[in-house]
Amino acid sequence: MAEVLVIGAGMVGVSTALALQAQGHAVTLADRRAPGKETSYGNAGVIQVEAAEPYPMPRAQLDLLRHALGRTNDVTWSLPGLASMAPALWQYWRASAPNHHARVGAIYARLTSRATDDHAPLIAASGSENLAARQGLALVFRDPAKFEQECGYAAHLASQYGVRYRAYSGTEWRREEPALQIDPIGAIHFTDSWSVSDPGALTSAYAALFEQRGGHVIEADADTLTQTANGWRITGSAGENIAEIAVLCLGPWTGLALRRFGLRVRMVLKRGYHAHYDAKNQLRRPFLDTDNGVVLSSMRAGLRMTSGAALVAPDAPPTPGQLVRGERGVGDLIALGPRIAGSDWYGTRPCLPGMLPMVGSVPGKAGLWVNFGHGHQGFTLGPTTAILLVETMDGASGALQTALAPATRLQPRLMGFTPKTEANRPTV
Ligand SMILES: Cc1cc2nc3c(=O)[nH]c(=O)nc-3n(C[C@H](O)[C@H](O)[C@H](O)COP(=O)(O)OP(=O)(O)OC[C@H]3O[C@@H](n4cnc5c(N)ncnc54)[C@H](O)[C@@H]3O)c2cc1C
Repeated sequence: MAEVLVIGAGMVGVSTALALQAQGHAVTLADRRAPGKETSYGNAGVIQVEAAEPYPMPRAQLDLLRHALGRTNDVTWSLPGLASMAPALWQYWRASAPNHHARVGAIYARLTSRATDDHAPLIAASGSENLAARQGLALVFRDPAKFEQECGYAAHLASQYGVRYRAYSGTEWRREEPALQIDPIGAIHFTDSWSVSDPGALTSAYAALFEQRGGHVIEADADTLTQTANGWRITGSAGENIAEIAVLCLGPWTGLALRRFGLRVRMVLKRGYHAHYDAKNQLRRPFLDTDNGVVLSSMRAGLRMTSGAALVAPDAPPTPGQLVRGERGVGDLIALGPRIAGSDWYGTRPCLPGMLPMVGSVPGKAGLWVNFGHGHQGFTLGPTTAILLVETMDGASGALQTALAPATRLQPRLMGFTPKTEANRPTV
């Protein structure tokens, strides 16, 4: 048994704390806020077993041109945003080459395919069955060519990774989803994905389960984390906490925290927005409006519309144009109702250019571990990579562990970091 500090209490950190606790470790979970108040609060709430391949950067010239000209609503950008992430975006572009992306998919599918199995015991034990629906996720189409193309991709996911789906004509789909006002051209229903009607509440419920099982949740800032002779120390509102092992699960903020320890990690920070609407009709399951790049999910607080990715500088003020375009675009399909005052939110998907999360020990920093970079699917994958992290700590090794390991992906910072010995030099 070890004493472990898990820092960051989003879905990834809370799941990590639970998985370590289940192995008999004495775990303290630290965050500067209450659990589940950041990215894990504001997402679309889908546990995406259909997302067998992570989203690559578009490489076809026509797609790039459409993005460059602002013709799509699923990805938008600003010049300062592109400039602030240029090296990471270049890596992302290279990793998105078809042969590389296929290799990444083979790893990623091993994670997403077990996501609902890994959430299930936590949903049950935390008493959260009322938040979870097992009705799948739909993609809805108005454009026949796009529908046909995506049916082809769904067939690829089915044959390659066993993802289950069914394609529907628009008329058939409206019988499945009576909240729609018109027949779309068609729909693809990924039947095995789950959805959650309050993602922040599920994260908090997992944190409450961790406490019920004897874990401690403290308020502390990662900026106070320091290495000691025997481990790690963080200073919180109730004083100092010391542990042999520290695990950073800070989502989009993990890159900043690692910088303090002389390590550089490039991230592609994809901002997303949401707003809630007072819609009369409940959806049976979330759907992606493929023409407008927004996901609609019925939540406890109203109908949530989440936007696609905005590549903007981290400190850029909110400009929720994607939501406004989404509101205009989905109006024929579903009666949104009025936007609920004060429901506007934005957060950041913590993406790594190689499209795989980073899970494992940090080279050259004894007792420091990371679990972050889950991009578009952190809510899905929190419990899964938590289990993997614990297995890696216990000595498991294999292709999965190697693909997710920080050893080959963290680099010493160019400035202000001089490796003292060969032993503490991270592998580049
Ligand atoms: C619009 C949108 C829609 C999405 N939809 C989905 C979806 O349907 N399904 C899905 O699987 N994923 C979805 N995602 C992605 C998913 O939300 C993220 O991948 C996931 O929430 C990341 O979890 P995390 O625990 O790594 O980060 P977070 O939830 O952000 O947690 C990080 C924690 O670190 C804490 N922290 C930060 N800095 C410090 C510090 N200095 N000191 C102490 N604590 C600190 C924060 O307070 C926070 O609690 C979506 C994301 C967005 C933006």
